[in-house]
Amino acid sequence: MRFEYAPAPESRSVVTLRDSYGLFIGGQFVSGSSVFKTISPATEEVLAEVTQAGPEDVDRAVAAARHAYERTWSVMAGRERGKYLFRIARLIQERSRELAVLETLDNGKPIRESRDVDIPLAAAHFFYHAGWADKLSYAGFGPSPRPLGVAGQVIPWNFPLLMLAWKIAPALACGNTVVLKPAETTPLTALLFAEICQQADLPPGVVNIVTGDGATGHALVAHPGIDKVAFTGSTEVGKEIARICAVSGQRVTLELGGKAANIVFDDAPVDQAVEGIINGIFFNQGHVCCAGSRLLVQESIADELLAALKRRMERLRLGDPLDKNTDVGAVNSQVQLERIEAFAATGAEEGAERWSAQCPLPDRGFWFPPTVFTGVSQAHRIAQEEIFGPVLSVLTFRTPDEAIVKANNTPYGLSAGVWTEKGSLILSVASRLRAGVVWANTFNRFDPASPFGGYKESGFGREGGRHGLEAYLDIHGASVLGGSDV
Ligand code: NAD
Repeated sequence: MRFEYAPAPESRSVVTLRDSYGLFIGGQFVSGSSVFKTISPATEEVLAEVTQAGPEDVDRAVAAARHAYERTWSVMAGRERGKYLFRIARLIQERSRELAVLETLDNGKPIRESRDVDIPLAAAHFFYHAGWADKLSYAGFGPSPRPLGVAGQVIPWNFPLLMLAWKIAPALACGNTVVLKPAETTPLTALLFAEICQQADLPPGVVNIVTGDGATGHALVAHPGIDKVAFTGSTEVGKEIARICAVSGQRVTLELGGKAANIVFDDAPVDQAVEGIINGIFFNQGHVCCAGSRLLVQESIADELLAALKRRMERLRLGDPLDKNTDVGAVNSQVQLERIEAFAATGAEEGAERWSAQCPLPDRGFWFPPTVFTGVSQAHRIAQEEIFGPVLSVLTFRTPDEAIVKANNTPYGLSAGVWTEKGSLILSVASRLRAGVVWANTFNRFDPASPFGGYKESGFGREGGRHGLEAYLDIHGASVLGGSDV
């Protein structure tokens, strides 16, 4: 039986959009040379004009960050830095509804997700790292680890505020200052975060936000005044950045793409596994680097599991992302929609069987129905390449060894899921998977205390936890230089 839900739209009135946004440099909003528009992917409505930062704007931002690093932030006691981070965390909580609505407007993700996942986790990252700011001497990196300097940070559009938090919170806790560039399709919550920095009285120049496209990102990561580059995005751009940093000698961490296997053994509880598969691939429209985009199901339960999965998919509600009933929102951009459509066409051409949930798609905006491909072989492009959309490729296996070989058979190594009631099987499979994160009987769970990152073409370096601090500390010169962390 399918329930009809009355609409439950979240109000937009909590958000005050400006017509036009400048760059946040040295604690102020300043104008730049040109502008571009950011739209709502659910309606194609123009939300605001945003500044495209050119090389000279990036220069100004790096200079402001350097000044703040040398004069203020790196010489401030860790306990003082921690107070600012706590203040920011509290302000994110206080303004969480405004941030959630703005994120949903600019990104297209369901309000339920921005409200219950993105924004609370962003606050949690600031709380967690606030706690580290005066304890760096006890983090296991020597008695007085030092900050690196100015961090240049470039983030993607799938979790705009959350990716910002993953980047800015550890950098600031460790005493670095930052210049961050949000993705061109989702700049608005980063600009609201700039207002939060003002509200928190963060010293000018500690956080700088430059908006723009890939050219702005390139100008930032290639800037000689940057000591550390942190990038989250596609493997293609990550490789280019790795080449730049190999020549310049800048420290770099790369969080790139993924093609995770969600492995379901025949003793797994089917209903729970189905919920995990749904969450794994349809959460955030599948725009998730660690999405469980390959389902590996043991052959003996494949028919039963797929029937239950399709029944559950028919009940997913796709539509207005601001409606609190919505499960699947809009695809973030026309470009991404075309990419997903092209992959779906390839899957069918290569001989896999396509099945999509029967849900009406809105007339305006960018939409793709939750889709499953069965009969997928390991050689198919939809089994190897990251689609970054609500498309699941299903493969089968007979033995644990076969599951492990198939799971590891992609260029990526970011995450995986294992579903079985046997703890010993979980441990033995997890230890043989080349994946940075392995979830057992769950999927897409995040915690700021838990390091996240990949192997192979999924990048290197970890974000979160004690491991994530290492990316923002000079741990080699530590004991010689002395420090200011307490
Ligand atoms: P993208 O690489 O196109 O863009 C990411 C960011 O890089 C954007 O801000 C973009 O403007 C900027 N950029 C583009 N070209 C650049 C260049 N030449 N130099 C510097 N910056 C440049 O990726 P996307 O399509 O926005 O994001 C999707 C990708 O991000 C997926 O592959 C996904 O797997 C990955 N991702 C990874 C993680 C992770 O933690 N591993 C998390 C989220 C997303």
